[in-house]
Amino acid sequence: MTFRELGLSDEVLKAVADAGYEHPTPIQEQAIPQVLMGRDILGCAQTGTGKTASFTLPMIDILAQGRARARMPRSLILTPTRELAAQIAENFEIYGKYNKLAMALLIGGENFGPQMEKLDRGVDVLIATPGRLIDHFERGGLLLTDVKILVIDEADRMLDMGFIPDVERIVSFLPKIRQTLFFSATFPPEVKRLSDSFLINPKQITVSPKISTAETVQHFLAPTRSKDFEKRETLRRILKAEKVKNALIFCNRKRDVDVVARSLKRHGFLAAALHGDMAQSARTETLEAFKAGDITYLVATDVAGRGIDIVGLSHVFNFDVPFHAED
Ligand code: AMP
Repeated sequence: MTFRELGLSDEVLKAVADAGYEHPTPIQEQAIPQVLMGRDILGCAQTGTGKTASFTLPMIDILAQGRARARMPRSLILTPTRELAAQIAENFEIYGKYNKLAMALLIGGENFGPQMEKLDRGVDVLIATPGRLIDHFERGGLLLTDVKILVIDEADRMLDMGFIPDVERIVSFLPKIRQTLFFSATFPPEVKRLSDSFLINPKQITVSPKISTAETVQHFLAPTRSKDFEKRETLRRILKAEKVKNALIFCNRKRDVDVVARSLKRHGFLAAALHGDMAQSARTETLEAFKAGDITYLVATDVAGRGIDIVGLSHVFNFDVPFHAED
Protein backbone atom coordinates (compact mmCIF):
# COMPACT_ATOMS: atom_id res chain seq x y z
CA MET A 1 0.00 0.00 0.00
CA THR A 2 1.30 3.47 -0.88
CA PHE A 3 0.24 6.89 0.43
CA ARG A 4 -0.92 7.77 -3.10
CA GLU A 5 -3.53 5.01 -3.02
CA LEU A 6 -5.13 6.60 0.03
CA GLY A 7 -6.45 9.55 -1.96
CA LEU A 8 -4.29 12.34 -0.54
CA SER A 9 -3.43 15.46 -2.56
CA ASP A 10 -0.11 15.99 -4.36
CA GLU A 11 0.87 18.67 -1.81
CA VAL A 12 0.43 16.32 1.12
CA LEU A 13 2.07 13.42 -0.74
CA LYS A 14 5.10 15.60 -1.39
CA ALA A 15 5.35 16.62 2.29
CA VAL A 16 5.04 12.96 3.34
CA ALA A 17 7.78 11.98 0.90
CA ASP A 18 9.97 14.79 2.28
CA ALA A 19 9.41 13.36 5.77
CA GLY A 20 10.89 10.11 4.46
CA TYR A 21 7.84 7.90 4.99
CA GLU A 22 7.59 5.09 2.46
CA HIS A 23 4.43 3.28 3.48
CA PRO A 24 1.40 4.20 5.56
CA THR A 25 1.12 2.52 8.96
CA PRO A 26 -1.93 0.25 9.55
CA ILE A 27 -3.95 2.99 11.25
CA GLN A 28 -3.11 5.43 8.46
CA GLU A 29 -4.12 2.88 5.84
CA GLN A 30 -7.48 2.36 7.49
CA ALA A 31 -8.28 5.86 8.73
CA ILE A 32 -7.14 8.21 5.95
CA PRO A 33 -9.62 7.15 3.21
CA GLN A 34 -12.48 7.17 5.74
CA VAL A 35 -11.59 10.62 7.08
CA LEU A 36 -11.35 11.96 3.52
CA MET A 37 -14.88 10.63 2.93
CA GLY A 38 -16.11 12.62 5.91
CA ARG A 39 -16.74 9.67 8.18
CA ASP A 40 -16.47 9.68 11.99
CA ILE A 41 -13.63 7.56 13.38
CA LEU A 42 -13.31 5.62 16.59
CA GLY A 43 -9.61 4.81 16.82
CA CYS A 44 -8.24 2.43 19.40
CA ALA A 45 -4.55 3.21 19.16
CA GLN A 46 -1.64 4.37 21.23
CA THR A 47 1.19 6.74 20.37
CA GLY A 48 3.86 5.24 18.18
CA THR A 49 1.35 3.76 15.72
CA GLY A 50 1.36 6.82 13.47
CA LYS A 51 -2.05 7.91 14.72
CA THR A 52 -1.23 11.62 14.60
CA ALA A 53 -0.59 11.53 10.84
CA SER A 54 -3.73 9.39 10.41
CA PHE A 55 -5.81 12.45 11.24
CA THR A 56 -3.51 15.38 10.34
CA LEU A 57 -2.85 14.26 6.74
CA PRO A 58 -6.50 14.03 5.63
CA MET A 59 -7.43 17.10 7.67
CA ILE A 60 -4.93 19.17 5.72
CA ASP A 61 -6.66 18.16 2.47
CA ILE A 62 -10.18 18.71 3.81
CA LEU A 63 -9.26 22.15 5.16
CA ALA A 64 -7.42 23.17 1.99
CA GLN A 65 -10.81 24.31 0.65
CA GLY A 66 -12.33 27.34 2.34
CA ARG A 67 -11.14 30.12 4.60
CA ALA A 68 -11.19 30.78 8.31
CA ARG A 69 -13.01 33.76 9.79
CA ALA A 70 -11.79 35.77 12.76
CA ARG A 71 -12.16 33.93 16.07
CA MET A 72 -14.00 31.06 14.35
CA PRO A 73 -11.65 28.08 13.97
CA ARG A 74 -12.61 25.53 11.30
CA SER A 75 -11.28 22.52 13.17
CA LEU A 76 -10.48 21.71 16.78
CA ILE A 77 -8.07 19.18 18.23
CA LEU A 78 -8.33 18.51 21.96
CA THR A 79 -5.42 16.78 23.63
CA PRO A 80 -4.57 16.27 27.32
CA THR A 81 -1.05 17.65 27.64
CA ARG A 82 0.85 20.65 26.36
CA GLU A 83 3.61 18.40 25.02
CA LEU A 84 1.17 16.36 22.93
CA ALA A 85 -0.43 19.58 21.67
CA ALA A 86 2.98 20.89 20.60
CA GLN A 87 3.75 17.58 18.90
CA ILE A 88 0.51 17.69 16.90
CA ALA A 89 1.30 21.27 15.87
CA GLU A 90 4.72 20.12 14.67
CA ASN A 91 2.98 17.43 12.60
CA PHE A 92 0.78 20.03 10.91
CA GLU A 93 3.84 22.09 10.12
CA ILE A 94 5.73 19.16 8.61
CA TYR A 95 2.84 17.69 6.60
CA GLY A 96 1.22 21.04 5.76
CA LYS A 97 4.31 22.75 4.43
CA TYR A 98 2.91 22.95 0.88
CA ASN A 99 -0.49 24.16 2.10
CA LYS A 100 -1.20 27.52 3.69
CA LEU A 101 -3.20 26.62 6.77
CA ALA A 102 -3.32 28.96 9.74
CA MET A 103 -2.87 27.22 13.06
CA ALA A 104 -3.09 28.24 16.70
CA LEU A 105 -1.93 26.40 19.79
CA LEU A 106 -3.87 27.16 22.98
CA ILE A 107 -1.96 25.67 25.88
CA GLY A 108 -1.62 26.63 29.50
CA GLY A 109 1.48 28.23 30.94
CA GLU A 110 1.89 30.64 28.04
CA ASN A 111 0.67 34.22 27.56
CA PHE A 112 -2.87 34.80 26.35
CA GLY A 113 -1.87 37.77 24.16
CA PRO A 114 -0.17 36.04 21.21
CA GLN A 115 -2.74 33.20 21.31
CA MET A 116 -5.59 35.72 21.06
CA GLU A 117 -3.94 37.60 18.21
CA LYS A 118 -3.73 34.39 16.22
CA LEU A 119 -7.39 33.61 16.88
CA ASP A 120 -8.32 37.12 15.75
CA ARG A 121 -6.59 36.57 12.43
CA GLY A 122 -8.62 33.39 11.87
CA VAL A 123 -7.34 29.82 12.17
CA ASP A 124 -7.99 26.67 10.18
CA VAL A 125 -6.59 24.38 12.85
CA LEU A 126 -6.93 24.99 16.57
CA ILE A 127 -4.98 22.66 18.85
CA ALA A 128 -5.78 23.00 22.54
CA THR A 129 -5.70 21.54 26.00
CA PRO A 130 -9.22 21.66 27.51
CA GLY A 131 -8.55 24.10 30.39
CA ARG A 132 -6.92 26.79 28.29
CA LEU A 133 -9.58 26.50 25.59
CA ILE A 134 -12.33 27.13 28.15
CA ASP A 135 -10.40 30.15 29.47
CA HIS A 136 -10.31 31.65 25.99
CA PHE A 137 -13.95 30.81 25.40
CA GLU A 138 -15.02 32.49 28.63
CA ARG A 139 -13.05 35.60 27.73
CA GLY A 140 -15.09 35.78 24.56
CA GLY A 141 -12.07 35.33 22.31
CA LEU A 142 -13.46 32.34 20.53
CA LEU A 143 -16.57 30.99 18.77
CA LEU A 144 -16.83 27.28 18.09
CA THR A 145 -19.87 27.36 15.80
CA ASP A 146 -17.77 27.02 12.65
CA VAL A 147 -15.89 23.88 13.70
CA LYS A 148 -16.34 21.25 10.97
CA ILE A 149 -13.87 18.67 12.30
CA LEU A 150 -13.32 17.74 15.94
CA VAL A 151 -10.46 15.51 17.09
CA ILE A 152 -10.37 14.08 20.60
CA ASP A 153 -6.89 12.68 21.19
CA GLU A 154 -5.92 10.35 24.06
CA ALA A 155 -9.40 10.31 25.61
CA ASP A 156 -8.39 7.84 28.32
CA ARG A 157 -5.63 10.17 29.45
CA MET A 158 -8.14 13.04 29.56
CA LEU A 159 -10.19 10.86 31.89
CA ASP A 160 -7.16 10.17 34.13
CA MET A 161 -6.43 13.87 34.32
CA GLY A 162 -9.99 14.83 35.22
CA PHE A 163 -10.72 16.66 31.94
CA ILE A 164 -13.91 14.86 30.93
CA PRO A 165 -16.34 17.53 32.26
CA ASP A 166 -14.34 20.21 30.40
CA VAL A 167 -14.35 18.14 27.21
CA GLU A 168 -18.12 17.60 27.41
CA ARG A 169 -18.66 21.31 27.96
CA ILE A 170 -16.49 22.24 24.99
CA VAL A 171 -18.25 19.76 22.71
CA SER A 172 -21.62 21.23 23.74
CA PHE A 173 -20.50 24.54 22.11
CA LEU A 174 -19.80 22.80 18.78
CA PRO A 175 -22.24 22.29 15.91
CA LYS A 176 -24.06 18.95 16.03
CA ILE A 177 -23.30 18.39 12.38
CA ARG A 178 -19.56 17.91 12.17
CA GLN A 179 -16.96 15.21 11.64
CA THR A 180 -15.53 13.69 14.82
CA LEU A 181 -12.33 11.66 15.14
CA PHE A 182 -11.95 10.04 18.54
CA PHE A 183 -8.77 8.31 19.72
CA SER A 184 -8.00 6.40 22.88
CA ALA A 185 -5.60 3.62 23.80
CA THR A 186 -8.11 2.04 26.21
CA PHE A 187 -11.88 2.20 26.58
CA PRO A 188 -12.97 2.31 30.22
CA PRO A 189 -16.77 2.81 30.64
CA GLU A 190 -16.54 6.61 30.94
CA VAL A 191 -14.56 6.89 27.69
CA LYS A 192 -17.00 4.52 25.98
CA ARG A 193 -19.92 6.70 27.10
CA LEU A 194 -18.18 9.76 25.70
CA SER A 195 -17.42 8.16 22.34
CA ASP A 196 -21.03 6.94 22.08
CA SER A 197 -22.36 10.44 22.63
CA PHE A 198 -19.88 12.29 20.36
CA LEU A 199 -19.77 10.00 17.32
CA ILE A 200 -22.29 9.19 14.61
CA ASN A 201 -21.97 5.78 12.95
CA PRO A 202 -18.16 5.78 13.31
CA LYS A 203 -15.73 3.57 11.47
CA GLN A 204 -14.03 1.62 14.22
CA ILE A 205 -10.31 1.05 13.85
CA THR A 206 -8.23 -0.97 16.27
CA VAL A 207 -4.53 -1.26 15.56
CA SER A 208 -3.12 -2.94 18.63
CA PRO A 209 -5.92 -4.71 20.44
CA LYS A 210 -4.02 -5.07 23.69
CA ILE A 211 -1.54 -2.75 25.32
CA SER A 212 1.63 -4.60 24.49
CA THR A 213 5.27 -3.70 24.67
CA ALA A 214 7.13 -3.31 21.39
CA GLU A 215 9.20 -6.36 20.50
CA THR A 216 12.30 -4.21 20.23
CA VAL A 217 12.09 -3.30 23.92
CA GLN A 218 13.79 -5.42 26.58
CA HIS A 219 12.56 -5.34 30.18
CA PHE A 220 14.66 -5.68 33.32
CA LEU A 221 13.71 -5.65 36.96
CA ALA A 222 16.27 -4.21 39.36
CA PRO A 223 15.76 -5.26 42.98
CA THR A 224 16.59 -2.49 45.44
CA ARG A 225 16.05 -1.55 49.06
CA SER A 226 13.00 0.57 49.68
CA LYS A 227 14.49 3.73 51.22
CA ASP A 228 14.62 6.57 48.70
CA PHE A 229 18.36 7.17 48.99
CA GLU A 230 18.94 3.45 48.47
CA LYS A 231 16.81 3.50 45.33
CA ARG A 232 18.79 6.48 44.04
CA GLU A 233 22.02 4.62 44.73
CA THR A 234 20.75 1.62 42.75
CA LEU A 235 19.78 3.92 39.90
CA ARG A 236 23.23 5.49 39.78
CA ARG A 237 24.86 2.09 39.83
CA ILE A 238 22.79 0.96 36.83
CA LEU A 239 23.37 4.23 34.96
CA LYS A 240 27.10 3.67 35.32
CA ALA A 241 26.99 -0.03 34.43
CA GLU A 242 24.72 0.29 31.39
CA LYS A 243 25.63 1.87 28.08
CA VAL A 244 23.13 4.69 28.38
CA LYS A 245 23.00 7.04 25.42
CA ASN A 246 19.99 8.93 26.77
CA ALA A 247 17.31 7.95 29.24
CA LEU A 248 13.90 8.93 30.54
CA ILE A 249 13.57 8.33 34.27
CA PHE A 250 9.98 8.24 35.48
CA CYS A 251 8.84 9.08 39.00
CA ASN A 252 5.23 9.09 40.14
CA ARG A 253 5.34 12.41 42.00
CA LYS A 254 6.58 15.82 40.94
CA ARG A 255 8.40 16.24 44.25
CA ASP A 256 10.40 13.06 43.63
CA VAL A 257 11.22 14.20 40.10
CA ASP A 258 12.97 17.23 41.58
CA VAL A 259 14.75 15.21 44.26
CA VAL A 260 16.04 12.58 41.81
CA ALA A 261 17.12 15.15 39.21
CA ARG A 262 18.96 17.23 41.80
CA SER A 263 20.66 14.19 43.29
CA LEU A 264 21.81 12.95 39.88
CA LYS A 265 23.22 16.37 39.06
CA ARG A 266 25.06 16.44 42.36
CA HIS A 267 26.66 13.15 41.42
CA GLY A 268 27.86 14.54 38.12
CA PHE A 269 25.16 13.20 35.76
CA LEU A 270 23.81 15.46 32.99
CA ALA A 271 20.25 15.39 34.30
CA ALA A 272 17.18 17.66 34.24
CA ALA A 273 13.62 17.56 35.57
CA LEU A 274 10.35 17.73 33.60
CA HIS A 275 6.95 18.02 35.26
CA GLY A 276 3.70 19.96 35.12
CA ASP A 277 4.57 22.55 37.77
CA MET A 278 7.35 24.01 35.65
CA ALA A 279 6.74 27.08 33.47
CA GLN A 280 5.95 26.11 29.88
CA SER A 281 9.06 27.88 28.59
CA ALA A 282 11.23 25.81 30.95
CA ARG A 283 9.49 22.59 29.90
CA THR A 284 9.96 23.33 26.21
CA GLU A 285 13.60 24.28 26.74
CA THR A 286 14.33 21.15 28.75
CA LEU A 287 12.72 18.91 26.16
CA GLU A 288 14.61 20.57 23.33
CA ALA A 289 17.90 20.20 25.23
CA PHE A 290 17.14 16.51 25.77
CA LYS A 291 16.27 15.97 22.11
CA ALA A 292 19.49 17.79 21.13
CA GLY A 293 21.55 15.57 23.44
CA ASP A 294 22.62 18.39 25.77
CA ILE A 295 20.88 16.56 28.60
CA THR A 296 21.44 12.80 28.95
CA TYR A 297 18.95 11.96 31.71
CA LEU A 298 15.46 13.42 31.75
CA VAL A 299 13.64 12.82 35.02
CA ALA A 300 9.89 13.20 34.46
CA THR A 301 6.43 12.41 35.72
CA ASP A 302 4.60 10.00 33.45
CA VAL A 303 1.96 12.64 32.76
CA ALA A 304 4.53 15.14 31.48
CA GLY A 305 6.53 12.48 29.68
CA ARG A 306 3.80 10.39 28.09
CA GLY A 307 3.69 10.19 24.35
CA ILE A 308 6.78 12.30 23.89
CA ASP A 309 8.42 11.14 20.71
CA ILE A 310 12.20 10.92 21.00
CA VAL A 311 14.18 9.23 18.29
CA GLY A 312 16.81 6.71 19.40
CA LEU A 313 16.09 6.70 23.12
CA SER A 314 18.31 3.98 24.64
CA HIS A 315 16.79 3.52 28.12
CA VAL A 316 13.66 4.12 30.16
CA PHE A 317 13.80 3.76 33.95
CA ASN A 318 10.72 3.46 36.11
CA PHE A 319 12.14 4.79 39.36
CA ASP A 320 8.70 4.14 40.84
CA VAL A 321 6.31 1.41 39.82
CA PRO A 322 3.77 3.32 37.67
CA PHE A 323 0.24 3.74 39.05
CA HIS A 324 -1.22 2.52 35.75
CA ALA A 325 0.08 -0.74 34.35
CA GLU A 326 -0.22 0.56 30.77
CA ASP A 327 2.22 3.41 31.51
P1 AMP B 1 2.49 8.89 16.48
O1 AMP B 1 1.94 7.53 16.75
O2 AMP B 1 1.55 9.74 15.72
O3 AMP B 1 2.96 9.55 17.76
O4 AMP B 1 3.78 8.74 15.52
C1 AMP B 1 4.93 8.08 15.94
C2 AMP B 1 6.13 8.33 15.03
O5 AMP B 1 6.00 7.67 13.78
C3 AMP B 1 6.41 9.78 14.69
O6 AMP B 1 7.80 10.02 14.88
C4 AMP B 1 6.06 9.91 13.23
O7 AMP B 1 6.88 10.88 12.62
C5 AMP B 1 6.37 8.53 12.70
N1 AMP B 1 5.53 8.13 11.55
C6 AMP B 1 4.22 8.38 11.36
N2 AMP B 1 3.77 7.82 10.22
C7 AMP B 1 4.83 7.19 9.67
C8 AMP B 1 5.02 6.42 8.46
N3 AMP B 1 4.00 6.18 7.62
N4 AMP B 1 6.25 5.92 8.21
C9 AMP B 1 7.27 6.15 9.07
N5 AMP B 1 7.17 6.87 10.22
C10 AMP B 1 5.97 7.38 10.52
